Amino acid sequence: MTYSTSPHTPATAQRPAHLRSHTFLGLAPGPRLLVLGAVHGNETCGSRAIGQLLQELDNGAIRIERGSVTFVPVTNPLAWQLGQRTGERNLNRNMAPTAIPQDFEDRIANVLCPLLDAHDVLLDLHSFHTGGSPFVMVGPQDNRGTLEPFSQAASEFQLALHTGPHRIVEGWLDTYARGVQRRAARPHADGTARSLALVTNTNYGVGTTEYMRSRGGYGVTLECGQHDDPQAVEVARHAILQALALLGISPLPLMPEPVAREILRLVDVVDREHADDAFTQEWRSFDTVRAGQVVGHRRSGVAVTAPHDGFIVFPNPRAEAGQEWFYFARRQA
Ligand SMILES: [Zn+2]
Repeated sequence: MTYSTSPHTPATAQRPAHLRSHTFLGLAPGPRLLVLGAVHGNETCGSRAIGQLLQELDNGAIRIERGSVTFVPVTNPLAWQLGQRTGERNLNRNMAPTAIPQDFEDRIANVLCPLLDAHDVLLDLHSFHTGGSPFVMVGPQDNRGTLEPFSQAASEFQLALHTGPHRIVEGWLDTYARGVQRRAARPHADGTARSLALVTNTNYGVGTTEYMRSRGGYGVTLECGQHDDPQAVEVARHAILQALALLGISPLPLMPEPVAREILRLVDVVDREHADDAFTQEWRSFDTVRAGQVVGHRRSGVAVTAPHDGFIVFPNPRAEAGQEWFYFARRQA
């Protein structure tokens, strides 16, 4: 099975009507792993790695002995058909079942959430637009708070380490939630009623891994490399095989944990307030900045500066007004 890197189909093509998944059930009990590709439709590395592995599972080169693994090669088939990040909206936000779906992604969530519920561990495979090294995102430390209570941080961190990248990023949801609070307090945000309702709702920060944690499971988001970089497919493949080995689902050799690791904590998110707000340079994720360094300028000319020594993460020079412009991270001790 192969997945082309240019999945564009004619505009007259019919909208996808189903979600395809492949499950392999080991004959001994064990954990249930779910592997997702193309939650964003232009991030094809996971889909391609899954395609290779399905063949190897079929021809017996890889054995599933304990528990189970389910692969969803293309998690947002509309975005995939369009060859773009989103279909009608970002599938990796506001992830929850809804009784009255408003868009294509709501309909996908209605079949994807039960699939997430039926598994214990999630490996979500993504890629990114600008250059840079792969990294992996984990959830919070164990806590009994109300935003994202969690008790499986140690298992999740083990999974993150064994997926491969030396850079681990944490702190997404609480940073996002702070951004939402600030955004909701601002008087004149632009945007349509629905997009405004979404970006001012903390639930909008819930993607695949956050949903998984909310249901008692755990999971990581692996950013495998630049879109369409053939190496990103290898990163995705390595991560799937190591997850199968770590969880004991397949009798594959488990590689040792990487010794060198860098843990970055997201600590702030800055919104673009106006279409004329502009960065001082083409920032890439994990570019370092010094405290006080100018990152961009508001339309008014006011400088936006780094609050501490740290890193720019997920810069989006084309962010819509009232939405996330960049995140700021600090190195964890
Ligand atoms: Zn993505």
